[in-house]
Amino acid sequence: MAQGIPDEVLMNTELIKDLVDVAKDAALLQGVLMRIQETPNSSELVTYAPFTLFPSPVPKTVFLQALALQTHYNTLVDKISQDPDFLQEALASTIAVDDFTAKLFRIHKQILKEGRSQSIVLGLNRSDYMLDQREDGSSSLKQIEINTIAASFGGLSSRTPDVHRHVLKVAGRLEESQRILDNNPAFGLTAALAKAWELYGSERAVVMFLVEETQRNIFDHRYIEHELWKRNITTMRKQFEDVCKTGSLDQDKRLFVDGREVAVVYFRNVFFLFSGFEFTHLAGTKKVQQVLARPGVLEKFFPDQPQVVEQIRATFAGLYTLDLGAEGDKTVTMALAAPDRFVLKPQREGGGNNIYGSEICQVLEGVKDSTERTAYILMDKICPWPVQNYLLRRDAPLKISNCLSELGIFGAYVRHGKDMVMNECVGHLLRTKSSEHSDGGVAAGVAVLDNPLLV
Ligand code: ADP
Ligand code: MG
Ligand code: MG
Repeated sequence: MAQGIPDEVLMNTELIKDLVDVAKDAALLQGVLMRIQETPNSSELVTYAPFTLFPSPVPKTVFLQALALQTHYNTLVDKISQDPDFLQEALASTIAVDDFTAKLFRIHKQILKEGRSQSIVLGLNRSDYMLDQREDGSSSLKQIEINTIAASFGGLSSRTPDVHRHVLKVAGRLEESQRILDNNPAFGLTAALAKAWELYGSERAVVMFLVEETQRNIFDHRYIEHELWKRNITTMRKQFEDVCKTGSLDQDKRLFVDGREVAVVYFRNVFFLFSGFEFTHLAGTKKVQQVLARPGVLEKFFPDQPQVVEQIRATFAGLYTLDLGAEGDKTVTMALAAPDRFVLKPQREGGGNNIYGSEICQVLEGVKDSTERTAYILMDKICPWPVQNYLLRRDAPLKISNCLSELGIFGAYVRHGKDMVMNECVGHLLRTKSSEHSDGGVAAGVAVLDNPLLV
């Protein structure tokens, strides 16, 4: 097991009880907040966003490896989203059976057809990884997926480092507390947004947050709003129905809501850049991930950079097609023979959709002889060593759990025509869950916020 928090601390029940109180207060003081489930649209009663009592060990080399990759991933996503032929070919079998992907593809084509009045592209990505740790002691960074339009928890995760530092100091672990890095994804994401807003070129234009009916995670958004206001960029929050009532497009396709020109729309963790909008979502589908892992495909996107290809490919887990044909048949046979070694993934986002273990056999037996199977891809299961920790959640009983962590790296880029005017790695997000759960993120109530403790 990686050297994390020693047992003398983890098993000291009295100390843990004290630390839990200290930790919750620290989270409230630092603003690691969420509204409560009962009143998701009021800030009268708020609580801490779920988090781990202690930070989780992450090898420093692996952490640096993930950071170093991010600008290349930004470039890759950007290149893919500008390559309709590649997307068409990669997604052909999936589009045929998966309505959701098919709809996205139609939107993508429509946007390309209508053409863009100015091509300012804003890309916010988060590449997620887990550590594959084997019995022989080896440990390697493997990509779980790339989220091409992901900014959630960029705000709260900039406040969690101070919470863990404080907890460790109170626990008498000063040295460990110094191994927690600063993190400020909200700042970097906002810098990209501000750059795009500036290129849009209207000082009066605002950034609109298109919000859902239930707004529990509002504080995470507020960090980004505040960062924008600090740069004197006006933001407004609107529900979809407000936009329907008071929104209009002028002849240049500029959006006005409530009489105000809107430069950028933020929706469900997605920023749409008005009038420079490019649809990068397809580049982050699981099918594209599987196609990218095929021999020769990365080379196409980085023709003169074999070392970049190698760096990216080193983080790919085994990914297998379920397209009809001999190769897909082989995947089926392999999965049925050892389902515990794999994860079966449909083209969905947001956690809770993947299929594991014996259920893989049930699902594959049902679809293996039809085109339906092409809606899925198969992936090697990544197995990190579990680490003991306490997951702190409102009203949940305190108990020690075996935990698994997933490291996300935020990237942001802005392209103006052919010029990349910004391409940066802007921060990280560590999410940790109990090993009983095979799937699910923070929003799904399974994972909680965490910080890497570099070891
Ligand atoms: P989503 O877009 O729904 O977040 P993911 O591919 O991230 O889809 O899968 C959801 C969760 O399932 C991940 O956060 C991770 O906990 C788990 N998971 C996904 N792929 C693997 C894998 N190859 N090995 C182990 N766990 C995985
Ligand atoms: Mg995802
Ligand atoms: Mg995910």
